[in-house]
Amino acid sequence: MSSRSPVRVRFAPSPTGFLHVGGARTALFNWLFARKHGGTFVLRVEDTDQSRNTEEAVQVIYDGLQWLGLEWNEGPLVGGDHGPYFQSQRHAIYERYLKRLLDGGHLYDDAGATRFRSPRQTVVVDDAVCGHIEFDMSNPATHPDMTIRRPDGSWIFHFVNVVDDIEMKISHVIRGEDHLSNTPKHVELYNVLGVKPPVFAHIPLILKRDGKGKMSKRDEGSSVNSYREGGYVPEAVRNYLCLLGWSPKDNREKLDIEEVVQLFDLDKINRRNAAFDLDKCFWLNGQYIAQMPMSRFRELCVPVLQADGILFEALGEAHLENVLGLVKEKIKLITEVGPWTRPLFTEDFPFDDTAVEKTLKPAGTAARLRELASKLNRVTDWSHDPIEAAFKELAAAAGVKPALYIHPARIALSGRAVGPGLYQMMIVLGKDRVLARLEKAAAMAG
Ligand code: GLU
Repeated sequence: MSSRSPVRVRFAPSPTGFLHVGGARTALFNWLFARKHGGTFVLRVEDTDQSRNTEEAVQVIYDGLQWLGLEWNEGPLVGGDHGPYFQSQRHAIYERYLKRLLDGGHLYDDAGATRFRSPRQTVVVDDAVCGHIEFDMSNPATHPDMTIRRPDGSWIFHFVNVVDDIEMKISHVIRGEDHLSNTPKHVELYNVLGVKPPVFAHIPLILKRDGKGKMSKRDEGSSVNSYREGGYVPEAVRNYLCLLGWSPKDNREKLDIEEVVQLFDLDKINRRNAAFDLDKCFWLNGQYIAQMPMSRFRELCVPVLQADGILFEALGEAHLENVLGLVKEKIKLITEVGPWTRPLFTEDFPFDDTAVEKTLKPAGTAARLRELASKLNRVTDWSHDPIEAAFKELAAAAGVKPALYIHPARIALSGRAVGPGLYQMMIVLGKDRVLARLEKAAAMAG
């Protein structure tokens, strides 16, 4: 890909079987930076710890990145000129670099482990986010010589990470701030290997919502998978992740990803740690759902309806779109689409016990539902205004509030106290089904 710029960045996860939002945010910032500069985004799997079941764990990473739309230009599945992209397959390369260090006199044996002799000089890092930092490496008590290879022959992270960044021609290392303290060790390796270090950009940590401590695996919303399963929309989650450590410097929060690509740069990343706010992500999700095109909404809802066993196809495409149109601006999670729309596709829908007790059981309800049915039976133009007028006339004639007809009707038609607009629901259901359900609910009301 000769048309690409020299910008080469990478996401280098260890396959733990879990893609943390922090990792996803790191991947996203790398992806944004590559997109912004027409560069290359590399995926490299740091699987030197062979004790894990890598295949499944790696799949979790692919799934999470693909779900968020963070396609990589080089790496597993897509290939590239700098592979293999699994550290477990790069032993020969590491051996070669090890020999260079050995020949340069930088290594020594320590009870079978191979260690790197620190030059014990001050290391300067001009971090694109954290600024100019001088690391005083003179004290072996606080900065012991790093191990490069364990006695069992396995490699230590620092060494293989640096070798791979060199071999993969990485120009910018964008990663979590938890790696800032490792950076002087990495720079020492670059120096003795005679390679100019990449630009480092350490992005702020993601803290728990209360700002107390780093977000951990146990915190709600920490796994990318939990969003997919929980009915979140990838573009909303991606938008939310953009705001964790970056902002457009005005107060906007919902931003098109192409605009983020245009506005993004390393010097705009905040130095302050970002506090994770699942409520904001949830709010954004609702905004995305409400504003997305119907075709996208349909695409997201269909698998969820299928998983819920709702036979939405039987009533035709136009009915499906009508139904989805009723809920699109109301639901906040895609997973809500099943419970919200089931009554619009089938007679086999559940009745909420509390709603039945509260709204159908009170005395007089059965009679009112039957009154309503006979009134609606006389509505010839089955559209919003005549239906609304029927409710009003009925209530006025009985000298009660329309709510006494409206609430029981809602339970009768959907089994639930919350849902799409009542009159809209009645139009989509059609008169016959509405009348039948009102009769059925009148019987339930006793
Ligand atoms: N495998 C390391 C991690 O997951 C990569 C660190 C880096 O990006 O250099 O933290």
